[in-house]
Amino acid sequence: MADIAPLYDRFQQATAVSTDSRQPQNGTLFFALNGPNFRGRDFAPAALAAGARYAVVDDQELADTDPARYTYAPDPLVALQELARYHRHQLILPVLAITGSNGKTTTKELVHAVLSRRFRVQYTQGNLNNHIGVPLTLLSIRPGEHELAIIEMGANHQGEIELLCRLAEPTHGLITNIGKAHLEGFGGVEGIVKGKGELFRFLAQVGGTAFVNTLDARLPELAAPVADRVTYPGPTDTYPAELLSAAPQVTLRLFNGDAVEAQITGGYNFPNLAAAAAVGAYFQVPAADIGAALAGYVPENNRSQLVRTAAANEVVLDAYNANPSSMAAALHSFATRPGNPADKVVILGDMFELGTESEDEHRTLGQLVQGLPFGTVVLIGPDMAAAAAFDSSMLHFASKPEAAAWLRENPPRHRQILVKGSRGMGLESLVELL
Ligand code: ATP
Ligand code: MG
Repeated sequence: MADIAPLYDRFQQATAVSTDSRQPQNGTLFFALNGPNFRGRDFAPAALAAGARYAVVDDQELADTDPARYTYAPDPLVALQELARYHRHQLILPVLAITGSNGKTTTKELVHAVLSRRFRVQYTQGNLNNHIGVPLTLLSIRPGEHELAIIEMGANHQGEIELLCRLAEPTHGLITNIGKAHLEGFGGVEGIVKGKGELFRFLAQVGGTAFVNTLDARLPELAAPVADRVTYPGPTDTYPAELLSAAPQVTLRLFNGDAVEAQITGGYNFPNLAAAAAVGAYFQVPAADIGAALAGYVPENNRSQLVRTAAANEVVLDAYNANPSSMAAALHSFATRPGNPADKVVILGDMFELGTESEDEHRTLGQLVQGLPFGTVVLIGPDMAAAAAFDSSMLHFASKPEAAAWLRENPPRHRQILVKGSRGMGLESLVELL
């Protein structure tokens, strides 16, 4: 945008920024973003009628009908991003960016729980971690009101984190881990390393601080160019931590020796908890407050939730998403839960977005599952056929309704059950049958 100042004026007069004309507007600055199947400007008059104060549209003729309320921008998305960048640039506060293949939202929520014990924190709501969500989060930071911001950054292709860093100008950054998520868009594991590494590269350029998970061998290497590094959770790291028990809930020992019992399950959440402890310690949150915040955090949205059902089953509900590395982490963790292996049931759905590697990755998953001690394996979805081919004792259903029919006829009781699949599989709907 040539000159952002007039739009910034309007932003400052507005109550908030909105992009969805169906949401209440009451004085907002509305950005008429285009979608794959719609033109945003078609909704702009309705947004203004519903109470938006201003609207940014890519239609000069429409803008000319009411210049006092419309701002013309050739691309409202770019205008939103530029406005966010400009706003962020005025702010003087630490901005912690969190990216990684798995566990970003969980870590973000944990870090927020810890840091809000000492600071007024603005942070990404839900999973709004992309090229639209990041600017919206940045624009929700109020000078004088917030002392620190936490921005979750998601990516499914190269260059995305770099763009988000240019908008958010993080002063601190944390990469949860590097795994196999969004293999398709990144072009293989090397592409993922490079793509996630964009955060540390940015921090190296601006003299920022990197939080480095030394359990992931690639991260110390990626962080090497950053001069200021804070490491966790190894015994010789800045903030050590120790996993004491992974089930039924994760219990960990913090850097100060305190044992903390969290309310999330699965050993793979240990690094997420340790990350939040390290960030808290670095920002001088008292250790007792860190422990209390971690112990008080309750997960939501089907992420590593422990559900006890009427049929006396203990369900590890992890239906929020899945990819090869989070599947492997969840399966290993489930396998090591105390209990009779014969009473363990795993219900797994297709992993999406794997591109040409999909068949291989599903086959590898089948091999992994076959080697672990479970009583019953239920695989759901067309891609899982490759996994099921491994072992005829694994049940395979091409669709969720077929699996549901089987579960109705064979309802599990007194079992431990892991439910995990890609978001699109929506496996949480099976829980009512368990
Ligand atoms: P998204 O890409 O959708 O934003 P995310 O990175 O924010 O995902 P979360 O929503 O925190 O991740 O967690 C999603 C799932 O990833 C969890 O339910 C769990 O199965 C898995 N997961 C969480 N943390 C880890 C980890 N450290 N290592 C491996 N898998 C993990
Ligand atoms: Mg997320």
